Amino acid sequence: MKQWEIAPGSRICQVCERRFDPDEQYWSVISETDAGYVRKDYCEVCQASAEPVEGPISVWRTINRVAPKLPRVNIDPVNAFELLETFSATDPEDPRQKLAYLLALLLMRRKVIRYEGIEEGHLLFKRGGRRKVWRVQEFNFKPEEMDEIQEELSALLELDEASVAEGQAPQPEGSPPDGGDAGLAENS
Ligand SMILES: [Zn+2]
Repeated sequence: MKQWEIAPGSRICQVCERRFDPDEQYWSVISETDAGYVRKDYCEVCQASAEPVEGPISVWRTINRVAPKLPRVNIDPVNAFELLETFSATDPEDPRQKLAYLLALLLMRRKVIRYEGIEEGHLLFKRGGRRKVWRVQEFNFKPEEMDEIQEELSALLELDEASVAEGQAPQPEGSPPDGGDAGLAENS
């Protein structure tokens, strides 16, 4: 049997070994074994017929996300993090939760925050060397929705940028997103 680590990116069904399609819904099960924590992913069909895992710690249904295209904007990490903090603290149904998720992806790309894992539809991350683990809801954006939310985010960040007296050294634009550490891009 293969060794599975708790990390996104395996993204194939444990049983039929089929790679999940973009946007396909599948199930993830985390359980504790003698070898440590293991994560197993199942497609819908195999989940229905799979033998129950003993003592699962966590079971959740998720979607094989395609990394959203992030707006190419210069961000001030401090301001962006404050926005992320504010937005993620809103009601779970609040549309700003989506902005919080995008901000988290942006800040991850800039290495301002560090990916810690995924838990029940939430992206977990840490900031700098701090211990606190933050959570932000994960979303799957429809293309048409993506355009709108990107514009919204760009407007927000540009406003922010304009109000920042001394900007941070701008990051080179057009650098490829390093979705790898976030496991949000399905590259292989
Ligand atoms: Zn399967």
